[in-house]
Amino acid sequence: MKSVDCEFESEVLAAVVQSRWPDRVDASLRAHASTCAICSDVAAVSAAIGDASDEMRASVAVPDSGGVWWRARLRARREAAEAAGRPITAAQVIALACAAGLLGACFGATSSLFQSAIRRIASNLTAFDWKALVSFAVASLAAHGALAAGIAALLLLAPAAAYLIAKD
Ligand SMILES: [Zn+2]
Repeated sequence: MKSVDCEFESEVLAAVVQSRWPDRVDASLRAHASTCAICSDVAAVSAAIGDASDEMRASVAVPDSGGVWWRARLRARREAAEAAGRPITAAQVIALACAAGLLGACFGATSSLFQSAIRRIASNLTAFDWKALVSFAVASLAAHGALAAGIAALLLLAPAAAYLIAKD
């Protein structure tokens, strides 16, 4: 079976890549490459690739560095503005969801309270008892004051927390 590896292969390749092939390399390496099929192939192929690369480099028009820098700065500024706009939208969505959820919870927690108040008012409609309503309101506030304060605090804190999370 024919060998596919040669110990001088990398040396030949390095010489071609560094433009030392074939004039500025060891005579023994040149002599080996002339008899070794692998090394002569490596030299021929990498020389062809190197020539093509040189030709391509000569025909490429590199844009002005100042223009490239200016466009890069414009793009960076636009991307920064877009990135700054994104968290605000996310925070608004989160805050809206929090507020909707809290409003739902608030309504659920107090709906029985409203119903009993309406029932009480309806039963006293003929002889409306303001004293009873006031005492009921005071009693309700005393009983649910902590809950109401908690809900109010959550409603105020949720958007702030959402904004801080989105900012990070
Ligand atoms: Zn070889």
